Amino acid sequence: MYNCTKEFKMQDKVIGYIGLGTMGSAMAGHLLSSGFPLVVWNRTASKAQALLEKGAIWAESPAVLAAQCDVVFINVSDTKDVLEVIFGENGVAQGIRPGTILIDNSTIAPTGSREIDERLAPMGVRCLDAPVSGGDIGARNATLTIIVGGDEATLEEVRPYLNVLGKKITHVGGSGAGQIAKAANQIMVAAQMVAEAELMIFAQKAGADPAKVVEAINAGAAQCWTLDVKAPKLLNGEREPGFKATLQAKDMNIAVETARAYHMNLPATALHTQLYNGMVAIGEGNLDNSAIISMIEVMNGEKLKTKESD
Ligand code: NAP
Repeated sequence: MYNCTKEFKMQDKVIGYIGLGTMGSAMAGHLLSSGFPLVVWNRTASKAQALLEKGAIWAESPAVLAAQCDVVFINVSDTKDVLEVIFGENGVAQGIRPGTILIDNSTIAPTGSREIDERLAPMGVRCLDAPVSGGDIGARNATLTIIVGGDEATLEEVRPYLNVLGKKITHVGGSGAGQIAKAANQIMVAAQMVAEAELMIFAQKAGADPAKVVEAINAGAAQCWTLDVKAPKLLNGEREPGFKATLQAKDMNIAVETARAYHMNLPATALHTQLYNGMVAIGEGNLDNSAIISMIEVMNGEKLKTKESD
């Protein structure tokens, strides 16, 4: 049974947050520090400790959490994980009440979001797919881009909560549309990561200083978030996540599978998907997605020189 030690005010809607990884822990923290009553659950309970010390309430399972909450956020890794958290044993669906709004911040297949909506709608639950972009830095700084699929009026009801998580919240269409937009985002992110890797190895092996090259071109037409944020890290020898390559590979496969379902050909995306799948296959999936440069290094027998290696 739910063990609540904190008295919530009657007028407060109670928020639940499931999934306290890199993204979820930061996002749940913003909801809590904004004064919203917050109940949390994470598969690995220890990751909730910091939030519990700041006043969040622990729930023993997703079902117990859902039974207490008016708005339930989910932020776990992949489609199968979201489905397990909702429909598995002691899952959200076993506790959730009619009228609750479920917001999924995970990046999953659009078909997964539509399935969740179709299965929960008969229970009186309204669902929004609301994947985010902006990385761990955006989560920590509450500057995320939040891309929402589902009913627009439902989004307006929960906008006050999303406003404390991100700076740009865009409704892009019905159920699953947020995930389609996020897959589109990942097509661009992967292209940038691979191009960044290639241009730095290209510059270095051909005799130019990659740090100077990045500085120069990032003021011109090639300017982008990846060169702003990731190039300095690579040049410092930092390849820890951030955004794990395994999650980037997952997102690329979502894009490719969605393209296949609509009989589309995305040749560059197919190549980038292979590179990320390769990175996972050689055991580098827990590195940052920018560490895709290691694949380009291997193909060229050239390791990026870092400040440490100079
Ligand atoms: P993460 O640090 O690896 O955390 C994953 C979270 O999912 C953990 O809380 C984990 O629980 C939970 N989880 C995974 N499988 C589960 C299952 N079967 N049942 C219950 N819980 C499960 O990942 P993250 O970086 O926070 O990413 C979360 C989501 O946000 C992903 O969909 C990712 O693609 C997306 N995203 C990430 C970033 C980024 O920069 N990191 C940016 C945009 C979007 P445990 O703690 O028990 O392992």
